[in-house]
Amino acid sequence: MPASSMPKEAAYQVINDELMLDGNPRLNLASFVTTWMEPECDKLMLAAINKNYVDMDEYPVTTELQNRCVNMIANLYHAPIANGETAVGVGTVGSSEAIMLAGLAFKRKWQQKRKAEGKPYDKPNIVTGANVQVCWEKFARYFEVELKEVKLREGYYVMDPVKAVEMVDENTICVAAILGSTLTGEFEDVKLLNELLTEKNKETGWDTPIHVDAASGGFIAPFVYPDLEWDFRLPLVKSINVSGHKYGLVYAGIGWVVWRTKEDLPDDLVFHINYLGSDQPTFTLNFSKGSSQIIAQYYQLIRLGFEGYKNIMENCIQNARILREGIEKTGRFEVVSKDVGVPLVAFALKDSSKHTVFEIAENLRRFGWIIPAYTMPADAQHVTVLRIVVREDFSRSLAERLVSHIETVVKELDLLPSRSAVQAAHVEAVAEEVQGKHKKSEREIQEEVTRYWRRYVADKKTGVC
Ligand SMILES: *Cc1c(COP(=O)(O)O)cnc(C)c1O
Repeated sequence: MPASSMPKEAAYQVINDELMLDGNPRLNLASFVTTWMEPECDKLMLAAINKNYVDMDEYPVTTELQNRCVNMIANLYHAPIANGETAVGVGTVGSSEAIMLAGLAFKRKWQQKRKAEGKPYDKPNIVTGANVQVCWEKFARYFEVELKEVKLREGYYVMDPVKAVEMVDENTICVAAILGSTLTGEFEDVKLLNELLTEKNKETGWDTPIHVDAASGGFIAPFVYPDLEWDFRLPLVKSINVSGHKYGLVYAGIGWVVWRTKEDLPDDLVFHINYLGSDQPTFTLNFSKGSSQIIAQYYQLIRLGFEGYKNIMENCIQNARILREGIEKTGRFEVVSKDVGVPLVAFALKDSSKHTVFEIAENLRRFGWIIPAYTMPADAQHVTVLRIVVREDFSRSLAERLVSHIETVVKELDLLPSRSAVQAAHVEAVAEEVQGKHKKSEREIQEEVTRYWRRYVADKKTGVC
């Protein structure tokens, strides 16, 4: 902290100048998170920037808008809400907080049941695919639940429902399925999971439930694939989370979790506030937070309506298709994302013996594109991919331009000596010359390249969000 103050204009200039070096959010294709909203909504958000959401008695209208959002989302997911009843759910900072809350509810319910049966309740576990987003690992570690991950395999990058149900035991608090895997956008088969788990529950007498992590897919599936059954239409699905700031089309800072019925949220986790004259249940990890994101979510829901969301999501899917076709046409890549899913393109190099996806990502930065390259989780760690997320503000012309930049980069790399090979071969060759040993064979160099590459890849774990 500087000892003395500076004029406000100077502080503004200093910070503004430094921030110019950040990437351009619109060209950040690494993230699902919204980077563009209508100016009318920006105006509403700015006007609410000084409202603390938690002051529900001072800002009852904001609270009411949140409740309306919960109701709209619960209805979108076919929650069985009786006439005159309101949906059970809450706005959060994002899907991570939503998942902590949903996970806690499952843990508490499971513990209550075990206690009532006089059985041990100290070893809860949760079953997920190895492709889960990091927030599930956080939930497991912070709240002391063992994470049992179904391993992936080459060519199959989501949770296999058969294997997941095999892993379920009497200590399983829930199976978490993902609607829109972070890595490939693929939807997991929640319907099959529901069937298999129903059978297992019948055989064993357990009642293991399902949570759906619809962080990215929760605002895609209802509009683009309305017949896909993944939500409360399936009886074992007890809670669902979605990121309002992903395809909910709001800037970073909003997520939602909804429960099937009141019975699925243990009452002792809920704090009741009645300053409003009516009962306002609250269940969050944080106390104070801004109101703008909730207002913005309400804006999007009523401004766009079902029709507007459907148009935008179909447009995203269309642009993802154009991008996919362009990438396939280069002949150099294998696309690993599926046609049905979140609009993104994840693709691997067919031949990465000379150059890697990491070099391609690095070179695309030159044009301003921010595209992550990453390795798949266990047991597909040897597969490395690039991932491009298609958001509302990613137009068809940008898609075409990006494809042409990828082509340029690939051609340029073809002309360059392979960086990893050069490094590895060079180091070894010098060492061997000094020792007066034989010249390395082609094969030995290739093995060295692969080893170097593995080490390089091992350090690259971030970049997907
Ligand atoms: C993004 C994402 C999360 C985390 O959501 P935040 O809203 O960023 O906290 C969790 N699960 C999945 C599948 C995601 O894609």
